[in-house]
Amino acid sequence: MGKVTGFLEIDREEPRYEPASDRVRHFGEFTIPMSEGRIIDQAARCMDCGVPYCHGDTGCPVNNQIPDWNDLVYNGDWKEATRNLHSTNNFPEFTGRICPAPCEEACTLNLEDVPVAIKTVEQAIADRAIRSGWIKPQINPNKTGKSVAIVGSGPAGMAAAQQLARAGHDVHVYEREPKAGGLLRYGIPDFKMEKEHVDFRIEQMSAEGVTFHYGENIGVTRPLSDLQNRHDAVLLCGGSEHPRDVDAEGVDLEGVHYAMPFLVQANRRFGGEDISGRAQLIAASKHVVVVGGGDTASDCVGTSFRQGAIAVTQARCASPTASHGEQTDQLAKLGSQDAHLIVTGRRRNSRIRCGHYEDHWQRQGAGDRR
Ligand SMILES: Cc1cc2nc3c(=O)[nH]c(=O)nc-3n(C[C@H](O)[C@H](O)[C@H](O)COP(=O)(O)OP(=O)(O)OC[C@H]3O[C@@H](n4cnc5c(N)ncnc54)[C@H](O)[C@@H]3O)c2cc1C
Ligand code: SF4
Repeated sequence: MGKVTGFLEIDREEPRYEPASDRVRHFGEFTIPMSEGRIIDQAARCMDCGVPYCHGDTGCPVNNQIPDWNDLVYNGDWKEATRNLHSTNNFPEFTGRICPAPCEEACTLNLEDVPVAIKTVEQAIADRAIRSGWIKPQINPNKTGKSVAIVGSGPAGMAAAQQLARAGHDVHVYEREPKAGGLLRYGIPDFKMEKEHVDFRIEQMSAEGVTFHYGENIGVTRPLSDLQNRHDAVLLCGGSEHPRDVDAEGVDLEGVHYAMPFLVQANRRFGGEDISGRAQLIAASKHVVVVGGGDTASDCVGTSFRQGAIAVTQARCASPTASHGEQTDQLAKLGSQDAHLIVTGRRRNSRIRCGHYEDHWQRQGAGDRR
């Protein structure tokens, strides 16, 4: 295990953020990486539990061997930690940035609300490995002679393609869009994860023998039967694109949009793609209301501020007992200087609680209304 008494001596720490006034001025990532020593301290907090709830059914869905690489980092063996981490996870620099970290929820130290900073250590291992040039294409010289088609190049398609190519198959990824990455590229904004991380892996996979075919909308521009004829197997990784229908009056009015067209266009614009033929969907100089409280909603709030919205109001349903602290933290992460949060009860006529947060998230003038 890490340091035997580490969890008693060392406080949990997470990376700090750039000040909100700075980060709303750009679309790039805004976390400030922690020093090597502080990352090692965080790894030292791991107790190497006899039953490590952080992975397996209760924690990490890809079975990252978390106590093992915490120990390796604590002992300064970053290269072996890199190898270990990649034995279960193709793209730890993605998950280290944007995974919701069920491992930390499950960590034994979360009984005291101070779980091991697993995600922070994971990102540090992955970033260091890339910086140090340790991530190389793994080319299998023994080819099976079998060919596999994969429809869709989101994280599911990418991980499958990489594993199948490393098993020696001839892998072809068919992607509708001009670039690979799925929602990593067109949904999630750069301030959460910059696209260079996706580009890096696409380059690695191309060197490993994966062929990407862009602008191929299977079932529209090319029939599925064509792939079945050309390849030994076809894997469908097309994701899920249908938004949750909102059965509310006025949802079809001008100026009301689903999140994805807004975020996709913002990502295309920022990524330098040609969007001239499309109606512009941009929050600049607008009062924006974001309905919802998950990842997608938070991406819309952060994008709206960065595009120059005058004000952003977020409305979300939450149980009346939901913690306000958690919600203010969400807003703080968005980089907003002046965000309103309205928490509504689930039932009709239930209480509406309004909070107004500004000046670095100090709650001011919050009140309860009916
Ligand atoms: C705004 C937003 C924010 C999110 N934030 C987070 C987060 O912070 N953390 C997190 O863990 N998850 C987050 N998610 C969820 C995460 O992005 C998805 O779970 C993940 O991308 C799903 O991966 P996938 O490969 O199955 O599908 P997708 O990423 O949707 O990829 C599917 C790919 O298939 C292609 N495709 C579809 N049909 C065809 C076809 N017929 N022919 C060719 N290609 C096709 C699409 O163009 C796309 O590239 C977020 C999602 C959204 C929308
Ligand atoms: S549950 Fe937490 S303390 Fe225990 S092994 Fe996993 S990360 Fe370490």
